[in-house]
Amino acid sequence: MTLEIGRISDAVQSAHRDNEHLAGGTNASYIPFLASVDPSLFGIAVVTVDGQVVEAGDTGFEFAIESISKVFTMGLAMEHVGADAFHAKVGADPTGLPFNSVMALELHNDLPMSPLVNAGAMSSTSLVPAVGAEDRWRKILAIQSAFAGREIVLSDEVNASEQSTNFHNRAIAWLLYGGGAMYSDPMEACDVYTRQCSTLITAKDLAVMGATLAAGGINPLTKERVVAAATVPHMLAEMTMEGLYTASGDWAYTVGLPGKSGVGGGLIAVAPGQLAIAAFSPPLDPAGNSVRGQAAVAQVANALGLGLYRTPGA
Ligand code: GLN
Repeated sequence: MTLEIGRISDAVQSAHRDNEHLAGGTNASYIPFLASVDPSLFGIAVVTVDGQVVEAGDTGFEFAIESISKVFTMGLAMEHVGADAFHAKVGADPTGLPFNSVMALELHNDLPMSPLVNAGAMSSTSLVPAVGAEDRWRKILAIQSAFAGREIVLSDEVNASEQSTNFHNRAIAWLLYGGGAMYSDPMEACDVYTRQCSTLITAKDLAVMGATLAAGGINPLTKERVVAAATVPHMLAEMTMEGLYTASGDWAYTVGLPGKSGVGGGLIAVAPGQLAIAAFSPPLDPAGNSVRGQAAVAQVANALGLGLYRTPGA
């Protein structure tokens, strides 16, 4: 099914208009920088697998990628160690607990269950083959840039804010080390993971990144192959399982598209073979997902009849 661009544009503009004043949620505050971002910012972007771009609202504002970075590091690490080995080491099941849960580790012998929670994300970061922190960081930044189709850079301000408050993640990194699930120095993995969360992207970048997944690993704007086609289904499956944390099941039930959120207020949903829908709005619900972002992405997906579990007529 090819969607007509005018129909996509109508859906995006309506979703922006209808959700612009949607109340609820609060900016993340455990990372001090995130509390300072204007909560009224709101943008929606769609990018199709043939490179068409539709935007509404604040789609040029640069915000912190945060947990959405986990998806790209997952792809990078998986391609280096192999899908089976990656699965065995990092897992693929939802934890059913918040993204930074220590209890999830306690219940599973200090092993991660999913690359999309903080524990598994730091394990994934540590699996990227590298000669040291800077080499590891360069590779991660390069894959974010390749997915976005432009040079992505670190925000020193976001990074400083996170590095000076990330004690909980450091504790998780040491627990993983004790469990045998850290493949580099644990504090190096935590440092690089914190940096990978502190890069700046726009809602449009996010839609390009998602569209690269929708297109089977080829960036629809640059035409560059970023990850192997065989890697993408694993990434999308994991986004379905854990992309919105404890709300992932609700998201699958109501929207039915692989998604990923970040505490910076970003959210993407991927319709494989078709397009990606991205939104940015800082106020979050208690699970850590953007309130307006979820409403807007769901509205666009529904208006376009997208959803992995839809059968003809549904
Ligand atoms: N950097 C954040 C953290 O480690 C990312 C969390 C998120 O976006 N859910 O807590």
